[in-house]
Amino acid sequence: MSAFYYRCRYFFLPLIFTALGLALSEIYQSDLQAWQGVIEQLPYWLLPAAIAIALQFNRSRLAYLAAIMLAYYLCVTQDLLESALLAQYSQQILLGGAFTIGGFAFIKDRGLLSPHGLVRVLGCGLCLAAGFGWLWVNREFKLQLDEALPAPFNMEVRVLAPLYLCGLLVLIRGLWQTSLVNSAIFITFALWAVQFEFIGLVSLATSMTVLAIIYILTVLTDSYFLAYRDELTGLASRRALYNLVLSLGRKYSVAMLDIDHFKKFNDTYGHDVGDQVLKLVASKIDAVRGGGKAFRYGGEEFTIIFPRKDAQSTLSYLEEVRQTIEEYDIVLRNEQRKSQSKAKRGKAKTNHQQRTVSVTISIGVAEHQSGETFEQTMKRSDQALYKAKKKGRNQVCV
Ligand code: GH3
Ligand code: MG
Ligand code: MG
Repeated sequence: MSAFYYRCRYFFLPLIFTALGLALSEIYQSDLQAWQGVIEQLPYWLLPAAIAIALQFNRSRLAYLAAIMLAYYLCVTQDLLESALLAQYSQQILLGGAFTIGGFAFIKDRGLLSPHGLVRVLGCGLCLAAGFGWLWVNREFKLQLDEALPAPFNMEVRVLAPLYLCGLLVLIRGLWQTSLVNSAIFITFALWAVQFEFIGLVSLATSMTVLAIIYILTVLTDSYFLAYRDELTGLASRRALYNLVLSLGRKYSVAMLDIDHFKKFNDTYGHDVGDQVLKLVASKIDAVRGGGKAFRYGGEEFTIIFPRKDAQSTLSYLEEVRQTIEEYDIVLRNEQRKSQSKAKRGKAKTNHQQRTVSVTISIGVAEHQSGETFEQTMKRSDQALYKAKKKGRNQVCV
């Protein structure tokens, strides 16, 4: 998966869906009017549910965010804090909240009831205090700052500058280290800012409901990927393969693929280079045509399932994969030189030497026969793979 595609899928797509959801709620506002009472109740149920689910799946940052949003929603809707007080300190709360939300983009998920949990709670308090502190400094030293800074940096700009800076940092973080959690944090930041800066654009209840749904979906989608995706190659995992098997009909073919002499390759180039090659080979296998679904079976072995196809009709697609990998000159950074250049930093900075390597794969394929279990079909494709190895490797056998 290219970096651009990855960013689109795991950062921009949730953003686009959120914007669409909010736009639709705005368009159908009059129809939703009848549901207003229900919508206002939703955050009371969904935010605690988001906290419970996030904690269950060890996503403590989302649990904290949901708890902060719930606390704020309770303060506003249940008059836990006087509305006059909230209005008086709205800019401080905006900045303090923004710093807190932004901070979560730069820390790791850690246990809630651990020393880290205490540090995070203190951190939230400090962020809130920073919001109040920034406003105090700007008001207390207004005249001095007006004199010292050029005209564009008037009071309003000075007060809100950290908000935009913080937003920019959260955005960069999300683009740099793309993940659904970072996307959720950025959306939280944006909706938080909109609540204070564009009052009335999106109702608080709608914002909180949308955020709770985003937190729950983020945790569940992330956990799904953890369970069903192979971490190294990004390909579907063996668990996902057995999940697919449950829904296979009677007609299908199973192909087993194995990289040739990979042990020797590792011995020659090192395990790290081996890992790089595995990733690239996996990306070529994943691009198989003919409706084939690719999985990393384990180690340097892959499986492709062709639903509704007999073995003969898969041969051209498998041959295509085999040939693509054979002809693929994999460009590697010279790891050894890279570490040497690190040692002689400065002197060897211009050393961008690259080298290419190539590997081949052997493939065995078998089609499902009536009365056979999936394991039996797979065993026959494994035997076909063994035949391909024996016949000299780099070929497809039935
Ligand atoms: P053959 O052509 O008969 O398949 O020879 P081979 O050396 O590839 O033999 P085999 O398939 O038994 O070797 C598996 C090797 O794959 C062992 C290990 O060094 C390597 N390998 C397995 N998993 C990984 C991995 O995740 N990363 C790397 N770098 N190497 C792996
Ligand atoms: Mg093997
Ligand atoms: Mg092998």
